[in-house]
Amino acid sequence: RSRLLQPEADRHPDTHPLTWRLRDDGEVIWLDEYLRKDGYQSVRAALDNGNPQAIIATMKDANVRGRGGAGFSAGLKWSLTLQGGNMPRGYLICNADEMEPGTFKDRLLMEQQPHLLIEGMILGALANNSFYGYIFLRGEYVEAARVLNRALDEAREAGWLGADINGSGFDFDIAVHTGAGRYICGEETALINSLEGKRANPRAKPPFPGQSGAWGKPSVVNNVETLCNVPAVILKGADWYQALSGDRTDDGGSKLYGVSGPVEKPGLWELPMGTTGAEILERAGGMRANRSLKAWLPGGASTGFLLPEHLDLPLDFDTVGKEGSRLGTGLLTVVPQEQSMVALMRNLEEFFARESCGWCTPCRDGLPWTVKLLRALELGQGETGDIELLDKLAADCGPGLTFCAHAPGAAMPLQTALKHFRQEFEQGVGKPRGKAHPDPIPVGE
Ligand code: NAD
Repeated sequence: RSRLLQPEADRHPDTHPLTWRLRDDGEVIWLDEYLRKDGYQSVRAALDNGNPQAIIATMKDANVRGRGGAGFSAGLKWSLTLQGGNMPRGYLICNADEMEPGTFKDRLLMEQQPHLLIEGMILGALANNSFYGYIFLRGEYVEAARVLNRALDEAREAGWLGADINGSGFDFDIAVHTGAGRYICGEETALINSLEGKRANPRAKPPFPGQSGAWGKPSVVNNVETLCNVPAVILKGADWYQALSGDRTDDGGSKLYGVSGPVEKPGLWELPMGTTGAEILERAGGMRANRSLKAWLPGGASTGFLLPEHLDLPLDFDTVGKEGSRLGTGLLTVVPQEQSMVALMRNLEEFFARESCGWCTPCRDGLPWTVKLLRALELGQGETGDIELLDKLAADCGPGLTFCAHAPGAAMPLQTALKHFRQEFEQGVGKPRGKAHPDPIPVGE
């Protein structure tokens, strides 16, 4: 189980909208307790208000940016969903396929506070006029599936889901769909294909899912943490949400940040958006004895390496972008001084190569090629020109050159590792360039 390291006494509804209800003992907040702690008040208010457009307007004003990693405004996404007129009602899909290496934040929310996600999904369904919801859940999250299914039963019995929700005339229900263990299923259009029972290849965008998604209907795909923000935003308003991050950053709200790697206390905390890497490392008790920090990834394997000198930057959606990285999921992976960057990159690229769906050439052929080169460099058997070839392969996987963000995500740590630690890669070059193909045998000999 993921455990939050902040004690109950340090969490408050006005500052910790995602976690203030969680208990120190890590037990699940079932419906009774959720209702006692102001649960479903936001849905009740929205149903009484009867104006779905007001939900979208508040979400847009609050500028809740997508917590899956891309940071796209959820309110803007909702405002672009096709609805009304002759448009069929579509789907509200929660992306719970949390497979980004080093990331374990959505698991905490689903395992311990399932009704917050359900409430966020009902609000999303109201705003987007969705008739059915899916929680596309990472298959290995067996405990989350158990908790969510029981919570869905509770919500149905209490009239928060199903036909005519609490006499409002609005119908909406939710099912949990467990994935079969592919990283690419977290890409929203691959997820939709998988949900439809097809092979999980990404689709071209546009059309975006809000225009044509699951079974051709308007479908909104949002991450777990994003949806869990919605109830408090609707109840307390955009200004309150914006103010949560103080003057740290223009991005509002709080964020689940975490750390894994050789630190004293790896874990998870809800902190103001724009908290710095240094503050997060301090929460984690710093590096373990005799270890020092060499580099860090701010939010999973598909982000770029940052250095100790970047620890004072606010971790919001734009700042680390200027350093060749991105926030991603906000769960830091810490790399100690003695770690070989070549070996680490070989490991990461093996993961990305294995998880490629094989749809586009730079990803299908380029990523295994990077693995081959990195393996040779790791063994000191690299050839002259290998590093330049790695540069080129990474550039060929850049944004806009492939169907989805998988290959660009694989390129980002490689490019930043080559930039900051080039010397380590150069040390792996042991041979002059061999001839790729034997000389053709002259005719007649
Ligand atoms: P993206 O920027 O292409 O899209 C983000 C969201 O914005 C999507 O829902 C997309 O539909 C929407 N969007 C973008 N432009 C739009 C437009 N013009 N109109 C309507 N909607 C629009 O990024 P992505 O491929 O969805 O995600 C990449 C991110 O995923 C990376 O930042 C990475 O950090 C993260 N990631 C997370 C995990 C995880 O387990 N949480 C795993 C892998 C990758």
